[in-house]
Amino acid sequence: MSERDYTLEPDSELRFEVEGKKEVVVLNLLKGKAEIFGTEITPEKPYSFHSGAKVAVFTWHGCSIKLKGNTEGTYIAKETPMVMYLNTHACLERLRKQADEGLAKGEEARGPVTMIVGPTDVGKSTLCRILLNYAVRMQRRPLFVDLDIGQGAIAIPGSIGAVLVERAASIDEGFSQEAPLVYNFGHIAPNSNMTLYNILVSRMAQTVQEKIVSNRKVAASGVVINTCGWVKDDGYRSLTHVAQSFEVDIIIVLDQERLYNELVQDIPFIKVVFLPKSGGVVERTRAMRISARDDRIRDYFYGIKTKYHPHSFDVRLNSVQIYKIGAPALPDSCMPADMKMDDHMTKLVKIDPSGKLQHHMLAVTLTTDPEDLLATNVAGFICVVDVDEEAGTMKVLSPQPKPLPDTILILTEVQYMDSN
Ligand code: ATP
Repeated sequence: MSERDYTLEPDSELRFEVEGKKEVVVLNLLKGKAEIFGTEITPEKPYSFHSGAKVAVFTWHGCSIKLKGNTEGTYIAKETPMVMYLNTHACLERLRKQADEGLAKGEEARGPVTMIVGPTDVGKSTLCRILLNYAVRMQRRPLFVDLDIGQGAIAIPGSIGAVLVERAASIDEGFSQEAPLVYNFGHIAPNSNMTLYNILVSRMAQTVQEKIVSNRKVAASGVVINTCGWVKDDGYRSLTHVAQSFEVDIIIVLDQERLYNELVQDIPFIKVVFLPKSGGVVERTRAMRISARDDRIRDYFYGIKTKYHPHSFDVRLNSVQIYKIGAPALPDSCMPADMKMDDHMTKLVKIDPSGKLQHHMLAVTLTTDPEDLLATNVAGFICVVDVDEEAGTMKVLSPQPKPLPDTILILTEVQYMDSN
């Protein structure tokens, strides 16, 4: 196993990736101060990184680091956009102070609602993490809203979520996911059902607004919103919908000047800021994205350090109510005169449980009334491991022990094959 020490000058970062399937790389901070995506590293404490990790250890004042294990693409970068990211944080902090002052005077003030946009692989999630970490390091309590259904950080792919950030992200596990607010979309790309995606975004915005009104500390801290990397056509329109629904104050556009110019022209009443992407952001292939989604679902059930123990049990098929949201579209000529395309996309279709459910994720709702399905957040997710039609049962993997709550389940297009 290789072992190497690195000395970093102020304002530089050590970048590395971990590739081999079972590879583990252990990092130790030997001297000085350093951070990983805004989380401070504790000196002499070993941090482990596993296969797929793409890491940047940044230092403002210089440091020495030891890496044990086989890393790929390891180098020290002297050019980073971190000063610009820090300046952005300082601007947000000024707005939070203003909000604090307003709230103290009994005004209806609110901290900045910031939305990060840009194409795929420009470091949107990473910038969210940096800004949120810097905010909590200043004793703020911001809300993190992740609308990226493909590669989001809350719950599982196919869902959008919000969490209150009370601690800096753990270096290996990200932000704590205690009591997240999750809405199920059920697909991994928004264009699979744009109508539903926009409805859920509006619903999330409303709930976040209620949270802000009810908690002064959160109100002053504001919100950071991560978005999907689909920035053209309907994707672009969906971004403007997000901006309006959340009454966003600042849009940070990463990397793409065209998108920046379009937004400046189309939404002149919102401040739009352009920031460069970091040269360290790693582009992910389709296979890497699929594998990252699988890992997220695995982590949902088993925890990042395999610290959870999911439950596996049989459920009688005739004891569950399963619905799917959205019916296959009909050609215009076949549509009843009074029916619109949107109606199809939000139509509730009752599913007869069968072998087709195998490997699908099901959202466990909090309602027994189908009418509520479009607007309700979900309690969690289960995976259909196997269906025995003859015995009339399905075996599910669930974070909670049996029985399943007596609520409606929603069928999703998201699939997972449990190999644990
Ligand atoms: P997507 O559109 O797929 O959600 P994104 O724009 O949100 O992507 P990130 O997920 O933030 O991009 O970054 C992609 C990868 O690059 C991540 O694995 C992240 O850890 C890595 N990364 C980000 N910044 C750096 C950096 N400065 N050095 C090394 N790796 C980095």
